[in-house]
Amino acid sequence: MIRRLCWLVLLCSQLFCVGALAEVLRIVPGQAVINVHTAAEVLEDAPGRLSLQDLLAGGAAEGFKPAHSALSSFGFTRSAYWYRFTLDNPGTTPQRRLLVLRTPWLDTVHLYAADSRGDFHERLVGDDFPFSAREHPTPAFVLDLDVPPGRHTHYLRVSSRQAFMTPIELWQPEAFQVEEQRWAAYYGMFYGILLVMVLYNGLIWLWTREANYAWYCLYLLAFSAMNASYSGFAFQFFWPDSPRWSNWGHTVFIFAFQVTATLFSMTFLESKTRLPRLHRVLQGFLALLLACWLGVTLWGDAVAYNAAPVHFIFLGTPLILAAGLSAWRCGYRAARFFVLATMVSLSGALCTALTVSGFLPYTFATFHAAEFGILIDVVLLSLALGDRIKLLRDQHQAAQQAMIQQKLQASEMLAEANAALERTVQERTAELARARDEAERMARTDGLTGVANRRCFEEVATREVARAQRYKQPLSMILFDIDLFKQINDNHGHAAGDAVIRAAASVVREAVREVDFVARVGGEEFAILLPGIHQAQAVTTAERLRELIAERVASHEALRLNFTASLGVSECRADDPGFGALLHRADQAMYVAKQRGRNRVAVAPEAAAA
Ligand code: GH3
Ligand code: MG
Ligand code: MG
Repeated sequence: MIRRLCWLVLLCSQLFCVGALAEVLRIVPGQAVINVHTAAEVLEDAPGRLSLQDLLAGGAAEGFKPAHSALSSFGFTRSAYWYRFTLDNPGTTPQRRLLVLRTPWLDTVHLYAADSRGDFHERLVGDDFPFSAREHPTPAFVLDLDVPPGRHTHYLRVSSRQAFMTPIELWQPEAFQVEEQRWAAYYGMFYGILLVMVLYNGLIWLWTREANYAWYCLYLLAFSAMNASYSGFAFQFFWPDSPRWSNWGHTVFIFAFQVTATLFSMTFLESKTRLPRLHRVLQGFLALLLACWLGVTLWGDAVAYNAAPVHFIFLGTPLILAAGLSAWRCGYRAARFFVLATMVSLSGALCTALTVSGFLPYTFATFHAAEFGILIDVVLLSLALGDRIKLLRDQHQAAQQAMIQQKLQASEMLAEANAALERTVQERTAELARARDEAERMARTDGLTGVANRRCFEEVATREVARAQRYKQPLSMILFDIDLFKQINDNHGHAAGDAVIRAAASVVREAVREVDFVARVGGEEFAILLPGIHQAQAVTTAERLRELIAERVASHEALRLNFTASLGVSECRADDPGFGALLHRADQAMYVAKQRGRNRVAVAPEAAAA
């Protein structure tokens, strides 16, 4: 049973081997393109020393294995690779075809094309040679291949210090022409968009001087240079006679792309302040990148030199992705589109790098992912710019609003402070006025009795006399003195005397009219000015006053004190030089009253009047 099983396995493996034998490609008119690679056999020539003769002689040729896949993708390798494929032209005339290797960075491509006699014709292309040496001036390697009638096996030897990756196609020349035009249109549009974006961001940088735009500009330029270098256009158009530089340039541009991408991300994400830890990691990555660049440039062999920057993409992309996502998560709103844009372009570059290194299957999408990524990047960037402008406008409006609010508050506070100051000033002024009035009142008032004092009396008397004389109106004066006051003082004490003086003042205040003016002009001596009153009427008033005084009892402690006063009356005359004359006559009259026995009224003697 086990034996039978073994036979079955062996049979299956034999069948597989038969199935794995390289197929013969039929070349018939009307085929636009056929993939030669799938039908080819491939042999690794690690030391790279095999020749066609070695292979034809047998031995070494046993190493050929069916390729199966649509392309070779061996990553970075020092080996050369041989391909063997058989073409069958069932017709009677040769079929003209183009053998196309659409990988512009291959170093050497040897084609050993068999003719109808089976002889081989060697042809050589590759980016190790000046561009002018090519049979067809396109970035891809294109070789004329006249497929002779019958079945013939052809050989191809390829070597590359860059990532080894190549599809091999056989094109009908006219169809290839159309395909080339399509590619030219695609790349024309692609570089056109990049150029516009570089100019656009360059102009914005000139206007705003924001480092973001400068770094984005450099990032796009580095990407363009890297892409043009890998797509072969840079070699074709910028340095067609410098194959050496063309081979070196790839690495320079891919390093520059990563340096600018990192610096741009750091500036845009403001990593120094927003993500200090990631910032240090990014700085370390930059330092490592530059050190590696220097290292492989000075000491690396060609393969290491070319492989290093591609491998750095695998490290740098997740790092920048992480930084972008952290900034976004930390609520940096301006980063939304910008982060997304950078992420898409970097992911595209990563995808292409993975394809070139042989980790991802070669398809149109995976190989050109970097280009699609950068196209999406520029579209998202336009949105990011719009978003950023909107954000700035919002911030500006908010700041203006806050400023207006502050100004309003400040002016309200100022108005309040002014009002408070005004109130304080008014209060102080009123207090001062009150204090001044009080001081004035006190200066004009007699402290003991509350009636006007002598100073006030003189002022009022001067004014009243002047008025009476001017308007020819009567004005009289009563002057009285408490009788024998000294005795009250002596008998009952000074305080009792004061009580009597206060009682006299209060009698006078109660007895006279509103318009009359009372003043204490001496110790127990009072004067009363009576405007509009003639002497006769004043005598009546004085008489009434005298009676009232005599009736009044002054109280001091347990004492009840009766007292009298002697009153002198005088009237103002037109020729009085001042109130002094009036007072003098009243004083004389009072003296007369004292003389006549006190407690009586007397008028000014005529003699005094004269
Ligand atoms: P006469 O009837 O002639 O006026 O006699 P008199 O005792 O009243 O004499 P005189 O007018 O000369 O006396 C005034 C006294 O009044 C002298 C003084 O000591 C006293 N005197 C002056 N001012 C005051 C005062 O404010 N209070 C008190 N208690 N006594 C005063
Ligand atoms: Mg007196
Ligand atoms: Mg007296």
